[in-house]
Amino acid sequence: MADEQYAIAIVGGATAGAEAADAFAKHGFLTVVFEQNPRPYGKVEDGLPKWHVALRAKEYRIIDKKLCQEHVHFVPCTALGRDFQLRDLVENWGFHSVVLANGAWRDRQLPIEGADKYIGRGLVYQNPFIMWFNHGHEAGYEGERFETIDGTAVVGGGLASIDVAKVFTMALTLVRLAERGIESDLVELEIKGIPKVLAGHGLTWEDLGIEGSTIYYRRRREDMPLVSMPENANEKVQEKIQKSRLRTLEKAMAKYLFKIETLLAPVGLIVEDDWLVGLEFAKTIVEGGRVKLTDERVEIRAPQFISSIGSIPQPIEGIPMRGELYDYQDWDIGSLEPFPTLFSVGNVVTGKGNIVDSRRHAKKVAAYVANDYFQIAEDVKKLEPLDDKAREALLKRIGARQQKLQYVDYESWISASKPPEFL
Ligand SMILES: Cc1cc2nc3c(=O)[nH]c(=O)nc-3n(C[C@H](O)[C@H](O)[C@H](O)COP(=O)(O)OP(=O)(O)OC[C@H]3O[C@@H](n4cnc5c(N)ncnc54)[C@H](O)[C@@H]3O)c2cc1C
Repeated sequence: MADEQYAIAIVGGATAGAEAADAFAKHGFLTVVFEQNPRPYGKVEDGLPKWHVALRAKEYRIIDKKLCQEHVHFVPCTALGRDFQLRDLVENWGFHSVVLANGAWRDRQLPIEGADKYIGRGLVYQNPFIMWFNHGHEAGYEGERFETIDGTAVVGGGLASIDVAKVFTMALTLVRLAERGIESDLVELEIKGIPKVLAGHGLTWEDLGIEGSTIYYRRRREDMPLVSMPENANEKVQEKIQKSRLRTLEKAMAKYLFKIETLLAPVGLIVEDDWLVGLEFAKTIVEGGRVKLTDERVEIRAPQFISSIGSIPQPIEGIPMRGELYDYQDWDIGSLEPFPTLFSVGNVVTGKGNIVDSRRHAKKVAAYVANDYFQIAEDVKKLEPLDDKAREALLKRIGARQQKLQYVDYESWISASKPPEFL
């Protein structure tokens, strides 16, 4: 098959989108990646807290390599739903397939009626908070601003909520050290752990007088997904994984000094002077993997609550929803009924907040699209290759958008818009 006879659009250029682009480019498909931001690094840049310097640099390099290659046309600053519409993309642009790789950027709502009324008045959601933590110090930052208030309570229990809790203990440690004329940084704290860094200056955590942050989790410590549980794990494997989760958690708590309270599910708001000052929690029990609320209630007061209970996809016009998720017809390949040529990859469909899972899923779906789906479509003669005129028209459309953005090529675009040094 000659190159660029088939064209694929990918929405989102981060871990999953870049992986899919790489697979399609290797098949010689004309691959167009639309990314809403100037840079295509997604959660690697805006989700992972900024102390993950080495991981972030490694993932940037991987994404760059996959997007900067023959047959891949990168279109930055172009958002589906804002700059172009899904139905138009699927039906009119000339693409043989559209792949959604737009991740999960909306915070799942705290499940207490009326809670969102207190956003900015005692209640904060994880995604904008980490965005600020990572970028708030940059000259051009125009997003929301937050504070690292001592004693903040984090509602959650996944990996991300541990990072949120760490933001407080680490950032407050740096402030207290700076007050004593001691310089350290987030990377040093991340690598050595807070107690070791303090000991190096003859200090203890108690000397700093920091209360720190506490995570409130509705399950048990051994349920925290710090080590993934394989599907259909037998009892012995489950026990082993739970032990390993406990070990990992204990190590993290000893190093970063956040606290955890378990078996508590938020059920009510405590409001004073129109400000969220506390949450009412129901005590829970975990039975057969399910969380059950008891009648017992506990009131927790804190100067600020951060909800970190998961990220879900942003609704986009044309995409059918089931509750808070896209209404996929087939969850393995992220297909959506109204659009037979559309598939989805990575976090937008797996819901798993993890780089390896996003990449693995994108690889699997891209292989399915390039092989099985195209074969099936060819067999039923639904797949007309692009003729020269159609290819030119598509490239012209893409080129016009790139030109408007003064985009010339991936390498020069990225080197001009590299994120500033983080720390
Ligand atoms: C606090 C925190 C800590 C984490 N720590 C780790 C960790 O230590 N290890 C790990 O493996 N994982 C970690 N993760 C999870 C990991 O970062 C993500 O799961 C993974 O990077 C998701 O990749 P993705 O490509 O599927 O989605 P994303 O990275 O979300 O990429 C989606 C892309 O689509 C773009 N996009 C969105 N909407 C549109 C639109 N409408 N039009 C065009 N483009 C759009 C976005 O800008 C983005 O570039 C963490 C996440 C968080 C929040």
